[in-house]
Amino acid sequence: MENVRNVVIIGSGCAGHTAALYTARANLKPLLLEGHEPGGQLSLTTLVENFPGFPEGIQGPELVENMRKQATRFGAEYKHGHVTSADLSQRPFKLHVSHEVVHTKTLIIASGASARWLGLPHEQQLIGHGVSSCATCDGFFFSGKEIVVIGGGDSAMEEATFLTRFATKVTIIHRRESFRASKIMLERAQNNPKIQFLTDTVVEDVYDVNHKEVTGLKLRNVKTGKVWDFPTSALFLGIGHIPNAKIFEGQLDADADGYLKTTKYVFTKVHGVYACGDVQDRRYRQAITAAGTGCMAALEAEKFLEEQGS
Ligand code: NAP
Repeated sequence: MENVRNVVIIGSGCAGHTAALYTARANLKPLLLEGHEPGGQLSLTTLVENFPGFPEGIQGPELVENMRKQATRFGAEYKHGHVTSADLSQRPFKLHVSHEVVHTKTLIIASGASARWLGLPHEQQLIGHGVSSCATCDGFFFSGKEIVVIGGGDSAMEEATFLTRFATKVTIIHRRESFRASKIMLERAQNNPKIQFLTDTVVEDVYDVNHKEVTGLKLRNVKTGKVWDFPTSALFLGIGHIPNAKIFEGQLDADADGYLKTTKYVFTKVHGVYACGDVQDRRYRQAITAAGTGCMAALEAEKFLEEQGS
């Protein structure tokens, strides 16, 4: 078979770029397929202050662009394209990418997870300007301000509790009266004097797109139908993430929420197929941990190819 790649990497976030860098430096000439959201979640953030090596911080999109340039310098090939299906039943693995078929001896899945958004009319325009899905990334920017967190699960409780380090007040807004968060995390939030709760309430829109910053929310009580404006400086979403792993359904193991299951960090159940970054990590979800597992996947792919004598 002609044109069989050594390594194909799906996804262009931190995990994918790091896997590309390592496999390129191992002279494996990797092909990275960028997917629908080039740059991954980092491309949606502004200043990244917790990636080591940048004492003044770095803009998220600049950080991923730097990673891309670094991998390209060593021969990694990047291609726009979304993988629509994969056949992992035999090697070389077969991927359908847009209208093309790509064959590869090893596959590194770094397709990430996409934050779940509310779908408000002005939500997307204010991402990075007060609308965020990552408290660890963006909480610091709202020191001394009032913040809203949406959700009733552990993520929302965790984010709200974390955000009280910066905010003067955090309001958790939840669409129901009862919470699916674990008892301990809910109680921690309930016992925090800086946190207040608004239940049976949904957000209808976020202001103010004209000023390119969040100034408030339009809320609706689902029981009474009352609609009112609620001032706030930031809207954090803690309503879950969706791992981008649907195309592997039935071929790779995933947990109940669709996160790929891995053993020894990056091994999937198919030899030669590795998963790294947020598509297999529901716990840490940090740029640096994604980069770390991207590196591990690359080293394993390299070892596998060596063992296969290719
Ligand atoms: P989750 O448990 O699925 O909770 C999502 C929350 O968002 C739910 O309360 C849900 O409301 C709400 N929600 C979803 N879509 C919404 C929408 N369109 N509008 C308004 N609200 C919406 O997700 P998660 O909190 O991210 O947790 C996921 C998993 O990770 C859980 O197993 C959790 O235990 C775990 N986790 C653990 C920790 C920890 O232990 N430190 C931290 C974070 C997450 P409903 O309740 O009405 O459905």
